[in-house]
Amino acid sequence: MIFPWQLSLSLGRYIAAKRLQGRRRFPLVLMLEPTLRCNLACAGCGRIREEKEIGGRMLTAQACLKAVDEAGAPVVSVTGGEPLLHPQIGQIVRGIVARRRFVYLCTNGIQMEQALAEFRPSPYLSWVVHLDGPAATHDQLAGRPGLFDTAIRAITAAKRAGFQVRTNTTLYKSSDWQQLESLFTLLSRLGVDGLMLAPAFSYERVAADIFLSRAEASAALAPLYAARRRFRFCHSPAYLEFLAGHRPLQCSPWSTPTCSVKGWRQPCYLITDRYAGSFTELMEDTPWERYGVGRDPRCTDCMVHSGYEASALESMRPADLLRALRWSLQ
Ligand code: SF4
Repeated sequence: MIFPWQLSLSLGRYIAAKRLQGRRRFPLVLMLEPTLRCNLACAGCGRIREEKEIGGRMLTAQACLKAVDEAGAPVVSVTGGEPLLHPQIGQIVRGIVARRRFVYLCTNGIQMEQALAEFRPSPYLSWVVHLDGPAATHDQLAGRPGLFDTAIRAITAAKRAGFQVRTNTTLYKSSDWQQLESLFTLLSRLGVDGLMLAPAFSYERVAADIFLSRAEASAALAPLYAARRRFRFCHSPAYLEFLAGHRPLQCSPWSTPTCSVKGWRQPCYLITDRYAGSFTELMEDTPWERYGVGRDPRCTDCMVHSGYEASALESMRPADLLRALRWSLQ
């Protein structure tokens, strides 16, 4: 199965309960950034500049778990920065799993193999390893030779130890479908539980000309859509249709609130116009109607799953439900 049954059940119950309460906007995934420190400086990442501004400050384990409780989202993506550089990362992840929330522990893989002993396999925990292409491409984008091989060793060790492992791939202008296909073939052979991907997005803090426009991204993703039955993409069929340009969607930034060292990012994981002091302030005081395609020029080329996966689920017609069920049971 692409997702453990516990996750499908928990998500289904949570969404049904929110709808019964008449809630229009609610979070599905909390993006938790315990630290923005990183041991890499990837080409497409803006967090590294922010890390300089905050001078190495981190969220404490207590602050992380408070954010988890405040948001109440069934899934918590622990991201950053490189979360494994946080000295309390074991405590943070164990605390979230103890609350029966699903943790996606994101990593670049450098310290993953050594960190495995700190965690126990659980249906509530999945590693998410960032890999942007086969060895040469990934190492060039991440700026360090040998990184791909290190990550692959860590994935192999994690699967052998019984962990769930997923991967996250960012598409750039230079991304090439044949290269991605060979990456996904290798990862499938290693028994990776699911593949995530999204076009890189040019938010203002990153100047390099490496990002795809929306039209370019849809063209680049067309072969991927055609290959959707060969690979275990852990995105809803509706989101894959959106990526391939077959389904228009407006984003739902409130579905993935982001808690960082400076507060809750308004409005989303990618754009920070200001920080809210609490989750309630984020949900109630953000002018949501001002963001999204056609509303804010900065959103024009954004297609990331943190903005659109919830919209894809929301947009599903009755005929899509059976497809979605078949997909989640793959
Ligand atoms: S489209 Fe939505 S998720 Fe993307 S940058 Fe704009 S507000 Fe954020």
